[in-house]
Amino acid sequence: MPQRLLYHILGVHGYQWDQIFSEDHQMICVISQSRESLCCSHCNPKRLISQGKVTRRFKTVPLGSQQIEIEFAIPRVRCRACHLVRQVKIPFAKSKKRYTKLFEQYALGLLRFATTLYAFAYLFAC
Ligand SMILES: [Zn+2]
Repeated sequence: MPQRLLYHILGVHGYQWDQIFSEDHQMICVISQSRESLCCSHCNPKRLISQGKVTRRFKTVPLGSQQIEIEFAIPRVRCRACHLVRQVKIPFAKSKKRYTKLFEQYALGLLRFATTLYAFAYLFAC
């Protein structure tokens, strides 16, 4: 799938699309972030020391009947200014959430026309 199409459909900008594969009836899009674009999530400077990565998956809007998840190895960095070790900010998802902001908007929009039970069954059908 062309990278530009995924940007527009999934609303994820500024990342590299490394791989797309199918697993358990859903499509997994693996993305990564370049070292140059990393910055501290607390004070924002770019003087950082890498401290590993934590891989997480985020549910995002379906493409037709195809469920999609974004897999992202979130960099952990030590900031040389504030000396904190943190994961970098993820602009496409809220903190501690397992779904994207776009998915949240999609689910709330679906609830305007469907019952909660139907919306849940539609969004999480396998
Ligand atoms: Zn900092």
